[in-house]
Formats: sequence, structure tokens, C-alpha cells
Amino acid sequence: MRIAQVCYHTSPLAPLGGRQAGGMNVYVRELSRELARQGHEVDVFTRREDADAPETEMLAPGLRLVRLAAGPPAPLDKEAAAPFIPEFAAAMGRFAAAGARPDVVHGHYWQGAAAGEAFARAAGAPHVVMFHTLGEVKNRARVSEREPLARIRRERELAASADAILTASAHEHVLLERYYGADRARMASIPCGVDTERFRPHDREACRRALGIEGERPALLWVGRLEKLKGVDILIDALAQLREADPLLLAVGGDGGAGALRAELEERARAAGLAANVRFAGAVAHEELPVWYAAADVCVAPSYYESFGLAAVEAMACGTPVVASRVGGLIETVTDGVNGYLIPWRCPEPFAEKLEVLIRNPELRANFARAARRSAARFRWDGIARRVAALYDGVVAARAAGAVA
Ligand code: UDP
Repeated sequence: MRIAQVCYHTSPLAPLGGRQAGGMNVYVRELSRELARQGHEVDVFTRREDADAPETEMLAPGLRLVRLAAGPPAPLDKEAAAPFIPEFAAAMGRFAAAGARPDVVHGHYWQGAAAGEAFARAAGAPHVVMFHTLGEVKNRARVSEREPLARIRRERELAASADAILTASAHEHVLLERYYGADRARMASIPCGVDTERFRPHDREACRRALGIEGERPALLWVGRLEKLKGVDILIDALAQLREADPLLLAVGGDGGAGALRAELEERARAAGLAANVRFAGAVAHEELPVWYAAADVCVAPSYYESFGLAAVEAMACGTPVVASRVGGLIETVTDGVNGYLIPWRCPEPFAEKLEVLIRNPELRANFARAARRSAARFRWDGIARRVAALYDGVVAARAAGAVA
């Protein structure tokens, strides 16, 4: 099958942990790699951000990155990139017309989906939409900047016109139906995958030494794009309530260079007398992250909302228990009392309580770690990519049947 992945506003090769590059980039990159490994022809389309970068680049056999000109050849944030979506869709159409027509188009985030839909329609191929985050849901979480109505309106149209809506958690189906009036019959849920070769248990002591964590000091870890929705404020407040001696919080991830949120969180830690207990590491290369997960006693995901939460699954694959908010995809990946804890309230006390339980009980931690590692097996990319390919087969077959009828 020839598959087009449309990842418009950020390249799947972008360095991770900035404001714009996170779970979606990992998802598109790893899914495409695995689909190509399984024998499909995959083109990943992204907006050209650098005039000197080649238009096409073979990343692996069967896997091609296609950078197409639309707007200035420079990095743009997604708001600035939005006006060039039609231009990009037309460029994909021209590219495909000169080469090979895709059998299926998979559009990511509302922007990639908007371009993907126009491309799919012109190519006569079915369109699978994956929103990754939904504007309406972000607005209801009430912590980040308000998402514009135009985005939400576009998401509603895309949900109505897609051949299939793929989500990483079944929970999102409820939201799509309730807030977007989307049709359940066209929804499918397949979790994100994790590279279990890369994310596996490592020697804890060696990893702690590598990161300069002293002695048996309890170490908590947070990994993500530093934005308000991630709830790092809750985590700092929880840290202040721990009765443990000198815990350490490692916060991994950048805020895209703006720095405002990081400064705010640093000030929050200082005000709580925790300046020496919180280390902001900035963005860390994806391949180095296993060391961080393995060094930590607990990984914390205190998000106000999370559509899937890859970092939590990566932590579990490394054998690190997770304490997470009971929201979105985390509900389906973390099993309360088995491989971590789920906290139903977005406030520091219950986080502090469960963190303390885990910090104080090495045996419980070891049990959770084993369970976490086991539970990560179902996120292996080979199985996940096969399920996604089966979904593509389904929409292709449905189209063909519709064309015959
Ligand atoms: N990540 C990374 N380096 C960083 C911060 C994050 O490689 O400094 C990766 C992390 O390993 C995960 C992704 O970015 O794969 C974040 O995905 P998640 O689903 O947790 O959050 P999202 O970005 O989708 O909100």
C-alpha cells in the first residue's frame, strides 16, 4: 500500500521537547518507519522550513520524507503556518500527480488533516484523521491559551468528512461525539507505540551516577513539552508537601525558547524553598531519555489533559512506575495500584500522598516496576503499525465498495 502521512506544521525529524515537537512527531516518525519495515511505501509530507533542505529524502527503504514549499522556508509556529495550508495541499497534489497516487492519506493534527483532506479528495483516496489534541477539549481544561473558534470549527468539519477518525485512546471517542457531534461508527482507537528496544530497563545506579543524583536521594521525573497543560505547577506544589528528606525533581523538556513558563515554575520552586530540589534540564535528545527514566524512582504525569501521554508509556517500558492524572489516554495506559497510580484531582495533596507511598516502599516500587515493564509490551510498534495498516485496508476497501455500488 502507498501511504501518505501529512505532518504539516512540524517535521517528524524536528528535535523533540520544544514547544511544538513532542508526541505527534515521535508517533509519525515511528509509525512510518514501522509501516515501511512491513513493506508499505510511505511518504511523510511536511512543510519546508529550510530552503537548503532537499525536497525528498529517503529515511529508510520505503520511507521518504517530502518537504514541500508553502509559505516562507523558515520555521513558523502553527498560528503563522495556518494560512499556507491550501498552498501545501496543492503542492502535495502536484507532487503525487508527478509520481504515484497514495492509496490512503493520514492527516495529523487539525492542520495536517486540513491539508490531508484536500489532498485525499483530489487524489481520490480515503482520508484518516488523527487530531492528537482537540481545540475544544483544550479550552475546557481551562489552563492554556484559548484555542480559536476557527480551529474548532475546522476540526468539526474534518471529523464529519473523514473516512475514519483514529484516536490513541477510546476516551477521546466520547469527547468527539459529545463536543464535535462526530459519528462513532467511523471512529477507531489504536494506542501510540513505544520503541521497546530503546525504552527498556537500564542499570539504575549507573544512570543515577550519569545524571549526578547523589546517594539514595529520591528522584522524581517529569518529561514533556513545557506548557501549562502539563501541570508541572501541581508537581512542584506536591514536592513541597513531601515529608521525604531532600527529594529531587528532574524536569525534562523545553518551552520552545520562550522561557516564560520555565521562569514562572523556577520562581514557584524558589518561593517554596525548593530551588535546590528542582532541576530543569531543558530538552533532552530522545535517545538519551532511557537513562533519565531508569534513574528515576517515579515518573510523574500531572497533566490537566493528555490525549495519550507517550512519556508515561516510555517510563513504564523502562520499568519506572508512573503517578499520573486520571485524564485522557493516561486512564488507559496506567493501571491504578498495579503499575502506578491515577490521581482524580488536579491538586498537589493526592500526588504528594502517592509519591510518598512509592518513595517509602522499595518493594512496592519493584513490583510496580515489573508490572510497568510487562504492560508496555502491548505498545510495541510492530503490533501497533499492523493495526493501523488494517484500519487503512478497511477504509480503502470501503471506498472501493462505495465506488462499485
Ligand atoms: N521528548 C523528548 N525530549 C524532551 C521532551 C520530550 O524526546 O526533552 C519526547 C518524549 O520522549 C515523548 C514526546 O516527546 O516521546 C512527548 O510525548 P507526550 O505524548 O508525552 O506529550 P505531547 O508532546 O504529545 O504532549
